Amino acid sequence: MKIAVFPGSFDPITVGHVDIVRRCIPLFDKIIIAVGVNSQKKYLFPLEKRMEWMHKVFENESKIEVSSYHGLTINYCKEVSANYILRGIRSAADFEYEKTIAHLNHTMNIDIETILILSPPEYSSISSTIVREIILGKGDVSKFVPQEIASEMHL
Ligand code: ADP
Repeated sequence: MKIAVFPGSFDPITVGHVDIVRRCIPLFDKIIIAVGVNSQKKYLFPLEKRMEWMHKVFENESKIEVSSYHGLTINYCKEVSANYILRGIRSAADFEYEKTIAHLNHTMNIDIETILILSPPEYSSISSTIVREIILGKGDVSKFVPQEIASEMHL
């Protein structure tokens, strides 16, 4: 079984995240969208809400699971028998950051491959950070988040 973990904060999920996941569905038997919980980090939306939104977006995709984990991503991969980590790349800055983490992860566990997927130009400027700013400013995020949850995305 080819199992991939797509780790992230997803605070909140955006159309950019959904695009990466959808394009990877044909490549794997199972994709676990996994929210990494970092007790040092402040989130805008509670973990339960972030997971609920992802469940809703992918409810008809039998290959997709939504989960959460504490600690290192590679340890979580081992726990769920995943050999692949998925990450999205929007820019050269993303690439440099992801390259460092991928090298470290590969050094720690040679059996886990990181797969980097390029975001299309129309999604390259979309980030959870921007979406949070718009929500805090009481703006309209409907172009940046999946339509089935857009109306729920407010504080
Ligand atoms: P993290 O806090 O781990 O960066 P995010 O939820 O912000 O978590 O992002 C998870 C993954 O999704 C990262 O690999 C990030 O590069 C990718 N990503 C975020 N936004 C987009 C986008 N608009 N297009 C493609 N990939 C994206």
